[in-house]
Amino acid sequence: MVDSDGLLRGKVVLITGASSGIGAAAARVFAGEGAAVVLAARREARLAALVAELTDKGHPASAVLCDVTRAEDARRAVAHALRHHGRLDGAFNNAGRGGDLTPLHEMDDDVYDAILDTNVRGLWNCLRAEIAAMLPTGGGAIVNNSSVGGLVAIPTAAPYVASKHAVVGFTRAAADEYAGRGVRVNAVAPGSTLSEITADWYARNPGLQDRIHASVPQGRTAAPEEVAEAAAWLLSDRSSYVTGTVLPVDGGYVNR
Ligand code: NDP
Repeated sequence: MVDSDGLLRGKVVLITGASSGIGAAAARVFAGEGAAVVLAARREARLAALVAELTDKGHPASAVLCDVTRAEDARRAVAHALRHHGRLDGAFNNAGRGGDLTPLHEMDDDVYDAILDTNVRGLWNCLRAEIAAMLPTGGGAIVNNSSVGGLVAIPTAAPYVASKHAVVGFTRAAADEYAGRGVRVNAVAPGSTLSEITADWYARNPGLQDRIHASVPQGRTAAPEEVAEAAAWLLSDRSSYVTGTVLPVDGGYVNR
């Protein structure tokens, strides 16, 4: 049984892409559930402000600068968690880059490179460092942030959809490989969620928000906390027999 006074009580959880959007919401939700949170991203001032907000409320939190496209940065983020908090129990691999709605045949290589490098190589870098840190303490739980675009085609440009399908592939492969060694690996697949990525899409594409809402059974964009709550459960001991799964957090979108 898990104590009711904190789904993640006593756990040390690394969050990549914690400087805004879903990652920042996850920092607040996980800390509220009792976790010590390690916030990783590239924007130092954003991370520092969030650490100050959390520590002011009495939550253990620290930040580490990390560009997930660089393997040494991912290793440094995990080493920071071990050095400052003693262990790594959970990781929310959330750092990601959105698509830009350019037709596939008109897209430049640099867009492909930026999206695949962040969303796929970034996850690869983080997974290796996190699993290596979890194995000596008997395991842990990892949640990767995919997208409904990891399950079905969505109009955000092909490299984003391909990258998020790859997140699902890594989730299944790692879950299968480490299930017997105490590491659970799952993914969330958010639908349209309020963040800088979606604010930018909506600003650059008039009418897009209404079209998206019309395609979602619940008829709205999610709050980032709604995605974070699902990730918290997957990181917690309450989901102890759940691994290799992809949980849509999408207001019913992929179920249409
Ligand atoms: P934001 O743009 O608010 O957050 C993206 C986060 O990723 C930022 O914290 C950013 O931090 C970080 N990041 C980007 N590139 C890197 C990098 N190279 N190294 C480290 N951190 C990086 O958008 P969201 O909160 O929406 O996005 C979070 C995740 O959710 C992404 O993986 C996205 O694909 C996924 N998602 C979002 C949906 C939505 O509708 N919002 C829907 C489905 C999935 P910094 O710039 O400081 O490095």
